[in-house]
Amino acid sequence: MSAKEILLYSAGLDSFPAWHYLGKPEALFFDIGQRYCSQEYRAIETLRRRWDITLTTSRELNLTAWERPDGIIPLRNLYFAMLASHRADVIWCIGVKGDHTADKNPEAFAQMSTFLSTYAGREIRIDSPFWDMTKTEIVRWYLDQGLPVEDLLNTFSCLNPGTSPFHCGRCSACLRRWISLVNNGITDAKFQTNPWEWDEVQSYYLTAMHDGTYPDHRAEEFFTALSTVGVDA
Ligand SMILES: [Zn+2]
Repeated sequence: MSAKEILLYSAGLDSFPAWHYLGKPEALFFDIGQRYCSQEYRAIETLRRRWDITLTTSRELNLTAWERPDGIIPLRNLYFAMLASHRADVIWCIGVKGDHTADKNPEAFAQMSTFLSTYAGREIRIDSPFWDMTKTEIVRWYLDQGLPVEDLLNTFSCLNPGTSPFHCGRCSACLRRWISLVNNGITDAKFQTNPWEWDEVQSYYLTAMHDGTYPDHRAEEFFTALSTVGVDA
């Protein structure tokens, strides 16, 4: 019997293309009380109806106490991997090229696989199919399949939308979303405010992208995106 696979899914700009890329596996969504949960539910429902996605929603864990002001929940992927390991042997958790989050990078996933295999008493693999692709390249792959732009725009990936159905335009996830879409010619994504006008673009990202804090490919995509809106990088 082949190992059972499951995709950690949030109807985001990474996990929705991943569902296609991986051949439409069973999907698992964790409602851990994240502040942008209701927007994620909306995106999940829209895409589930349109694509007949086999999806389980889990509410077995509440991490609201540990959500930081910037929306990051430390160790989130470690909790997810543990809970998903009850359900499957191969756990797809979508990281992309250049991700350096402590619990979402190739080394961390290799360590988690070893750790979980030891304690579960069977082979567990946690991995991402996109370690060699940037978000921009993932969007390009998706479009190259002839899949609809409309559904990319139906995805949700924002850490701080408030009660609005629209992306905030002022968080790291929005900035990355905008870059990957605009670099693929998609300029009509809705944001509450323009991501390129977010304070941190000037006060943090431009400097960090120039001084090597970020990998070259990420800086290049950032500068390319800014040039499309006339921001001098
Ligand atoms: Zn946002």
